[in-house]
Amino acid sequence: MESTKWTTIFESETNKLKPEHSWRLEFDEHIAPNRPSYGWRQCVINTCARFRCCSCGRGWSSNRVMVLFHMRLMNVNGIVKTRPLYQKCKNCSDAPMEKPNIESHSIAVLMDNLMEKIREKCYHEYTGQRKRHFRSYDGDKPHEPEHCQGCKLGLCRRK
Ligand SMILES: [Zn+2]
Ligand SMILES: [Zn+2]
Repeated sequence: MESTKWTTIFESETNKLKPEHSWRLEFDEHIAPNRPSYGWRQCVINTCARFRCCSCGRGWSSNRVMVLFHMRLMNVNGIVKTRPLYQKCKNCSDAPMEKPNIESHSIAVLMDNLMEKIREKCYHEYTGQRKRHFRSYDGDKPHEPEHCQGCKLGLCRRK
């Protein structure tokens, strides 16, 4: 995963929030869904990504990839912890869950939507801006809850 891309966009976007506040983005696979620590706020944002199975090499794309965020602003320091949720190959019974590979355009949209959430949850601003939508992958494949970490953790949106 292109974590530097996330960090670069995150830093330039959070610089626009409040000049005296500094924000940091951390990847953390251990943040607990629906149980943010005291003082932290949670949001879940839908994006799209590609995956590749390390057992058989099969690739697939999904328009339902959840990214979990926990955020906190304390005095002048803000932290956002992020955990993109994994999926696994439907053809391999013993394949591990794979990390999503999110394209640059989708990362930019994701960070934009995250800024709205920060304004709302940490600054109590309501911007009224509509959520930006990522560029979906073609083909409406059925989502597979058995192979999706987001579904297993109860974070995937039901349609
Ligand atoms: Zn496979
Ligand atoms: Zn799911």
